[in-house]
Amino acid sequence: MPQAAAYAAHSADATFAPTTITRREPGPTEVLIDIAWAGICHSDIHTAREEWGTAHFPLVPGHEIAGTVAQIGSEVTKFAVGDRVGVGVFVDSCRECPECLGGTEQYCSGGGMMGTYNSKGRDGLWNDGGYSTAITVEQDYTLRIPEGIELAEAAPLLCAGITLYSPLRHWGAGPGKKVAIVGMGGLGHMGVKIAAAMGAEVTVLSQTLSKKEDGERFGATHYHATSDPETFRTLARSFDLIISTVSADLDMNAFLGLLKVDGTLVNVGLPENPLSVKAGALAGARRSLSGSNIGGIGETQEMLDFCAEHGLGATVEKIGGDDITAAYDRVVASDVRYRFVIDTSTFPPAG
Ligand code: NAP
Ligand code: ZN
Ligand code: ZN
Repeated sequence: MPQAAAYAAHSADATFAPTTITRREPGPTEVLIDIAWAGICHSDIHTAREEWGTAHFPLVPGHEIAGTVAQIGSEVTKFAVGDRVGVGVFVDSCRECPECLGGTEQYCSGGGMMGTYNSKGRDGLWNDGGYSTAITVEQDYTLRIPEGIELAEAAPLLCAGITLYSPLRHWGAGPGKKVAIVGMGGLGHMGVKIAAAMGAEVTVLSQTLSKKEDGERFGATHYHATSDPETFRTLARSFDLIISTVSADLDMNAFLGLLKVDGTLVNVGLPENPLSVKAGALAGARRSLSGSNIGGIGETQEMLDFCAEHGLGATVEKIGGDDITAAYDRVVASDVRYRFVIDTSTFPPAG
């Protein structure tokens, strides 16, 4: 069985240390991937710190994976050794329910998608994620990373990129649409880039103006601080679509007030506590509040191809394995520009 070097947390204090894990020999339809980079998603932090409930330790998180195919099973047709590939938030699903057959595997009604980590695979064993040097995945749940996007900048697309691409597509972001992105972290900065590339007029709503120049460089036309009450007066009833990527509690009613009649606020952030919404904030302008979870496999491939076509990748800070623990605190403090990616070549050898 292939051995892989990895970084694991052993408890909810989320302190990471080197370890060795075992990967499956690829089955007939599986590929073994040499992981080059793994992004740090805020969901890794929510999970490792048990903000979403009990986690299975030792925990090897990571669902923004980019690397190359090292070995293929006997019936693999989609990939060859050396191909540039990615893996996102799930590595399998029932493959039979209407959602799986219809390309929205992330909403699988046949038992739910099987997470890349903190979830059990078909073999009944706990999955380990991308903070490791290798992973074995079904070819149908493996994505192709187009030439032209560096692997380090591609890794975050596998979660942050698709999580914004899917609702932007679904709610028709494009020319003539006014779109606001709330929170410009890992997800948010990709939202700005993708919405602008789709042709929408993009506004960033960030806590402060400290990242304004970056936001404009990513494609935003307007940038406002939510710490300034004037923002909510000036922008009342302005937007067709607002996507909130905020990882903490947020005053949803204040943001709903920024929607036009029939506008939609899509909440993709997954804070620990329930959202609190006033009926009047919705009824007052026939507004909708929705949510969205990553995207299906086909749509994720479409997003990667779209990003390559438009020259988009994530803006990353590269770190080594020993930096993961400190990086978590920096993400929570909104002090990352704009996604940490872990260089797995810095890991001590497996064994
Ligand atoms: P991130 O890099 O930490 O970005 C979150 C941003 O939210 C921060 O950069 C900050 O933006 C803003 N923010 C943070 N604390 C805030 C507060 N107290 N008040 C107001 N704004 C605050 O995290 P991420 O990786 O982008 O993930 C964001 C959230 O989405 C997490 O909850 C994550 O679990 C969730 N998520 C959901 C999906 C899905 O499919 N639905 C997928 C991936 C992640 P500013 O500095 O610009 O204010
Ligand atoms: Zn994620
Ligand atoms: Zn299914």
